[in-house]
Amino acid sequence: MRDFVFDARLPRVVFGAGALAHLPRELAALGIGRALVLSTPGQRALAERAAALLGGASAGVFAQAAMHVPVEVARAAAAEARRVGADGAVAIGGGSTTGLGKTLALDPGLPVVAVPTTYAGSEVTSVYGLTEAGTKKTARDPRVLPRAVIYDAELSLGLPWTTTVVSMLNAIAHAAEALYAPDANPVTDLLAEEGMRAGAAALDRLRLEPRDVDARGDALAAAWLCGTVLGNTTIGLHHKLCHTLGGSFGLPHAEVHAVVLPHALAYNAPAAPRAVATIARALAAARASGAAPSPEASAPAAVFKLGRRHGAPTSLAAIGMRAEDLDRAADLAMLQPYPNPRPLERDAIRVLLQRAFDGVAPD
Ligand code: NAD
Repeated sequence: MRDFVFDARLPRVVFGAGALAHLPRELAALGIGRALVLSTPGQRALAERAAALLGGASAGVFAQAAMHVPVEVARAAAAEARRVGADGAVAIGGGSTTGLGKTLALDPGLPVVAVPTTYAGSEVTSVYGLTEAGTKKTARDPRVLPRAVIYDAELSLGLPWTTTVVSMLNAIAHAAEALYAPDANPVTDLLAEEGMRAGAAALDRLRLEPRDVDARGDALAAAWLCGTVLGNTTIGLHHKLCHTLGGSFGLPHAEVHAVVLPHALAYNAPAAPRAVATIARALAAARASGAAPSPEASAPAAVFKLGRRHGAPTSLAAIGMRAEDLDRAADLAMLQPYPNPRPLERDAIRVLLQRAFDGVAPD
């Protein structure tokens, strides 16, 4: 029997094709009369569209969101929010833009509405990150949880294919680690299994038709489930390794998740048999499309094959890691202890990193 405490933390969610149209209603319900709309430079046109929709309730667009939330960008956004007298923010884009919104929830303390356009899941967690002088720090704070989330499947129709795949693998990684988290419970188990199944099944459909709005909706719903379990459980080895590799060696976030997940699962498999059986079952069910699923592949192999089948990068070497940094990465992974089903063994983690670097298929 597992003991647990479950204190669900969930924002309000508005879901649907074209749901962006509800943005003015959602801001009004929160009493926001002047919202600063945030985006990356590449998604400025979308932010301008949201601002136009808001009319007088828009305080303008700040389109400088960047990967890993550099502290200079967070300060510039806070200064802009003060300058224009914003009383709320809209973060429209991927995890980088949501992350910038979260910093505005802390300073100057604005309520944030998130409109996610990837599958990162940050919009439903109270985890935030800030990068200062090349070092990324992450922390939890209930104040950064967006007050409402608008999931509009139409906004991800043009998400490039590789981003679609690695972002979904990022979501699947949230669910996979939630299954062996020390604070997992029957509700997070159910959400995690269904999130993985639905996410993997959506990828199979989207590969054939990337602009299938129903499949985009399924993918977004899966991302919501996976993000929700991330927000309500404690992360382990996989996420810690990814934060180290992304934060200290500048590797792209979702791609690192895609490469590392099979290897982190292989490391943890002997100590988390129930979790890996669930992952294998979920991915087999996604492939079965109605037929009786047969989880013949182990969870690490099934995740590896899922990424490879859809063209995700499979080695750290391919996404910019240098072989001479692997020792330091293993050292960094050992620095701060954290809960993980299998104890952290430096030599075994170094082997894991080598296998991820080489892109070797897990057993
Ligand atoms: P991202 O937000 O950096 O987006 C990648 C690129 O894709 C950006 O240029 C973005 O503008 C573009 N893009 C996004 N949606 C698009 C669309 N629909 N069409 C076309 N282009 C689009 O990448 P991400 O993987 O979503 O987020 C990564 C960041 O999120 C990292 O900093 C990571 O640490 C953070 N994150 C945080 C949490 C959390 O709980 N705090 C969870 C997951 C990720």
